[in-house]
Amino acid sequence: MTDVHNAQIRSYNMSRIGSKNTKPELLVRKFLFSKGFRFKLHVRNLPGKPDLVLPKYKTVIFVHGCFWHGHEHCRYFVIPKTRTEWWMEKINRNRTLDMIHEGRLREEGWNVIVIYECALKKERQEETLAEIARRLLQIKMDLD
Ligand SMILES: [Zn+2]
Repeated sequence: MTDVHNAQIRSYNMSRIGSKNTKPELLVRKFLFSKGFRFKLHVRNLPGKPDLVLPKYKTVIFVHGCFWHGHEHCRYFVIPKTRTEWWMEKINRNRTLDMIHEGRLREEGWNVIVIYECALKKERQEETLAEIARRLLQIKMDLD
């Protein structure tokens, strides 16, 4: 029983943790590139290793999975009924780290855009992507 359970968690972990180039992230990259925004990927020397970095816009973008980052009031964030405490601890730790990373980035003068995966589901992605572009243009105007 324990083994089966652990195996399930393990495979779930492996499919999600640290996964680079996830589909939602690719969506954002493709869109921004098509609109002429240029960016760097997974910059290691910045807090939290942001998924996209736009130096010209002094902006970093995180594309967060709703489950691992504990997206509040989101239907994709459902704590498993087993080992609930263990999961909560794990996700709370991720949340805390997210907050610390965002805080440090802002202190260093970065604008931080966080996009949750649910906002990139088919029915919402157009609106979300347009909103990202709007924010970037606004940031650029403020910088100039
Ligand atoms: Zn969500």
